[in-house]
Amino acid sequence: MRKRMIAWVLTCASLLALCMSAQAAAKDFTVRHGDQTRKRVAVTIDDCFSLEHTVAAFELANRYEVPITFFMLGINLPEQDAEVWRAIADSQCEIGNHTYGHISLTTLDARGIYAQLMKAQEQLDAKLGYHYPMQVMRPPYGHLNRDGKNHVLKAIEDVGYTHAVLWDVSQTDPEQCYRRVKNGSILLFHTQAKDIRCLEELIPRLLEDGYELVTVSEMLDMPPVATSTDMYTYVYYHDWQKQQEQ
Ligand SMILES: [Zn+2]
Repeated sequence: MRKRMIAWVLTCASLLALCMSAQAAAKDFTVRHGDQTRKRVAVTIDDCFSLEHTVAAFELANRYEVPITFFMLGINLPEQDAEVWRAIADSQCEIGNHTYGHISLTTLDARGIYAQLMKAQEQLDAKLGYHYPMQVMRPPYGHLNRDGKNHVLKAIEDVGYTHAVLWDVSQTDPEQCYRRVKNGSILLFHTQAKDIRCLEELIPRLLEDGYELVTVSEMLDMPPVATSTDMYTYVYYHDWQKQQEQ
C-alpha cells in the first residue's frame, strides 16, 4: 500500500514537472516584450492594409533612421506595391510574417497553419524577386491557443519559427502610449492615420529619452535576416512532411 502510495506521488510529481516544463517552453516561445534590462523598444506595424500609411510609416523610419518591423499579410502584396516592399526589405526595417489571409490560427489545424505561414513567405519572395526568410511571426489577433492546447504553437514551431511575437503596448494616443513604454517593450500599430500620428510624436520622444529602437529580431537576439537568391515556392503540406521525415 505504502509502495503504491509512493509510486503515485512520484508519478504526480513527474507529471507536474512535465507540465511545468511544457509551460515554460510555451512561455519562452510566446513573447510580449524583450529584455527588460536594456533600454530598447521595437515598433511593429501589422497587416499593412493601407499602402499609403505603410509608406508613411516607412518614411518616418527613414527620417529618424530607426527600424520598424512590418508584419505583413500575403494577401496584401499586390504586384503594384512590390516596389515599396523591396525598399522596406532593403532598409534598416524588418518584414515579419503575419500569415497569408489573417485567419485566427486557433481555427486551423497544423496543415492550415503551415499553409498560412508558407504561402505568405512565397508571396513575399515573389514580390521581392529573391528569398527573404522571415524569421519572426505574429499570429493574427494574437490568437494562439484553443482549449488550453498548444497545437498552434507546435505548428508554428514545426514550420521553423522560434517565437510567436505578441506585444505589451497597444495604444494610439501618444501620451498614453509613451507612458506605457518600458525597457524591452514591443509596440503594436496598424496602418491607420491615428497610428501614424502617434508614431510621429512618439519616435522622437523615445529617442530623446535615450531608447534604442530595434527590429523584433534584434530584440529577440536573433541575427539579421539573411537573404538569398533561392526563392521559396510553396510545397504541399503532405510533401513537406515527407521531406521532414527524410
Ligand atoms: Zn493583424
